[in-house]
Order: sequence, then structure tokens, then C-alpha cells
Amino acid sequence: MAAETVDFERECERLIQEIERDARETVHFFGTARFDAAVLAAIAKVPREAFVPAAARPFAYINRPLAIGHGQTISQPYIVAAMTHMLALTPAARVLEIGAGCGYQAAVLAEIAAEVVTVETIPALAEAAAERLARLGYDNVQVHVGDGWKGWAEAAPYDAIIVTAAAAEMPAELVAQLAPGGRMAIPLGRPYETQRLVLVAKDAEGNLTESVNLPVAFVPLVKGD
Ligand code: SAH
Repeated sequence: MAAETVDFERECERLIQEIERDARETVHFFGTARFDAAVLAAIAKVPREAFVPAAARPFAYINRPLAIGHGQTISQPYIVAAMTHMLALTPAARVLEIGAGCGYQAAVLAEIAAEVVTVETIPALAEAAAERLARLGYDNVQVHVGDGWKGWAEAAPYDAIIVTAAAAEMPAELVAQLAPGGRMAIPLGRPYETQRLVLVAKDAEGNLTESVNLPVAFVPLVKGD
């Protein structure tokens, strides 16, 4: 199937319907059968075909993770929707993403929030993501090469933090960089085992609560030095 024969607009509509169906099936994890309308609108707007390698382009709107090179993946669209929903973003929100990958999740965040800072450990992915996001006009996203376990202190605190690789333990620096009232979506667990997608909410006094616990499978958040 050649990319030019795919009707991306129609495929995208079908994908949104699948995400809506999946959201109904996971109502017990999220306490809602519907993700925020702003999240679905953002997914409908971001051209996923521009973020995947040429060979994967015909499958850009299939509700699956896809390989993006360097042993990494672009997350499943349903998971992108679920994690973005968990953050309860406002248009004024400042967001930190760990694991820029191809930049797709950053673009979805940037459609809703004011500012997105994303950190990626693989320089070639960071460079390609930055170039792609700039070309698509996402001028409210900054891409940095760095170790996500350390967050990005220069621009902290953040209203929301999203970690798109699985952490074996809760990264203390990220918790510290979350503003009071802030929310973090993070897959916790060991590589190649079932992990749980956790929502960490920090209240005005700095107390943390964890919820959601959806079973997921993410590539590992690698440990820096
Ligand atoms: N959000 C991405 C999907 C990323 S896959 C997207 O929309 O495409 C997870 C990413 O996390 C990979 O690109 C991987 O290189 C990166 N990563 C893994 N460990 C990291 C770390 N310690 N710091 C920053 N990025 C990390």
C-alpha cells in the first residue's frame, strides 16, 4: 500500500472512534468513559504520518505503537490520548515531557498547553524531533538532549509532567519539579514486564497521591550517569 493511496483524514476519524471505544473499556481506571474533548481534538489535528518513518506512513493511523528507529517507538494513539487526558491541561499550562522520541506526543501537548519542554537522551532523535516540530509550526516546544531522570530544572516547576518511557522507580527530581497542584503521568515498572501507568497528583501542600494504575508496556527510561 503506497502512502499516497491512504486517505489520512478518514483514517484519523476512524482512529478517534477507536480511541473513544477504548476509553469506554477502561472507564474503571480513569473514572470516566470519555477523554477530554480538547485531547481528541488535538489528536485529530496533529498529522501522525509526519512523525513516523516513510515505510510506516500507510499505518500512521492504526491504533498501535510503531518503530521510529534507535530501538524506540512512537506510543499507541490511545495511550497518547489517555496520558494527555490524565494531565488535565489548561491552555496556560507549562508541560515537561521526558522521552521526546519522534516528537508526536509533544505536538499533541503543544496543541493544548502554552509551552512544552521535552527531553530526549538519544541526540539523533532529539534533533529530528526538533526539526520536524519546527517545520510543522510548533514554536511552543523546546527539545533538549539530556537525561530525563534529572528533568529540566532550568524551566521548573511544571504544571504537568509526562514520562513516555517506563521508570523502575519514581524519579525524585521529576516529583520535585512538579508545581503544587500539578499532575504527572508516568509508567512505573521494570523493563519488559507489565508496568502500571500512574497519575501522580501533588496538592497545594506538596502531598502526593497516586491513582489510575492502567497496565501498560513501555520502552525503558534508561538510567544516565
Ligand atoms: N513520546 C515519544 C515516544 C517515546 S519512546 C513520541 O511521541 O514519539 C521513549 C523515548 O524515551 C525514547 O525516544 C527514548 O530514547 C527516550 N528515553 C529513554 N530513556 C530516557 C532518559 N533517561 N531521558 C530522556 N529520554 C529517554
